[in-house]
Amino acid sequence: MRFTKKKIETVIISVLGEEGFALVDQLTGKENVSEFDLANKAKLDIKIIRKMLYMLYNHNLVGFTRKKDKQKGWYIYYWTLLPENIKFDYYKRRREQLEKLKRRLEEEHKELFFVCPNKCVRLNFDQGMDFEFHCPECGELITQDDNKDEIKIIKNHIDEIEDELKKLQESRIIRRKQIKKKIEKTKKKVIKKRVLEKKTIKKPTKKKPLKKKVVKRKSTLKKASKTEIVKKKILKKLLKKSSQKKKPIKKTVKKKVIKKKSKTKK
Ligand SMILES: [Zn+2]
Repeated sequence: MRFTKKKIETVIISVLGEEGFALVDQLTGKENVSEFDLANKAKLDIKIIRKMLYMLYNHNLVGFTRKKDKQKGWYIYYWTLLPENIKFDYYKRRREQLEKLKRRLEEEHKELFFVCPNKCVRLNFDQGMDFEFHCPECGELITQDDNKDEIKIIKNHIDEIEDELKKLQESRIIRRKQIKKKIEKTKKKVIKKRVLEKKTIKKPTKKKPLKKKVVKRKSTLKKASKTEIVKKKILKKLLKKSSQKKKPIKKTVKKKVIKKKSKTKK
């Protein structure tokens, strides 16, 4: 079921009153309309336009974005109707209307009604009693109303609304399914992207363990070197001990070496 401009109008007008017509004209089928453009085209003062827009905003029927005017330094608001919310609002209003009509139909079946021949008033039995079955407006005697026509009209109205609500609900279900499909599609896309990203990321992650292996090798090397150092230390100690025993010989050797070094330096 198509959601016509008329339905949008009924929602907007129920919030804003007759003045809202100009605004609906400027907003339907458009996006991000500047509030100044709205004021110009609707030929209304910017303050009135803003007041109307805020009322619609409070009813969750419009959304806005804002941009800072670099020259003037203030924000300009751009407005868009929210069709889904408007539809929901419309649906809600129609359901309330339906409930009212059903209650009225029940009353019409239960109660007796009295009307003035001049069509001033229509009163139920208790109200008629209060005025002693005379019209409170013109004083004429009121007579029992044959409400068969009234009941027909109400029944027709109820049928009409029920039919409309059914169609709206059907289209809602279809739309929800479409939205679900879209969401699932985007989910699948996201998952695919993630998988692809993982695949592309996997290459560096493959490198990482290699690096770790290198590090491990280094550490083993370090460990080896450490043991070598310990070995060297032990060797040094042993050498020292041995040198301490053979002190005189080593000293002379050392002196000779030093002499040689100094010679080469010169
Ligand atoms: Zn009357």
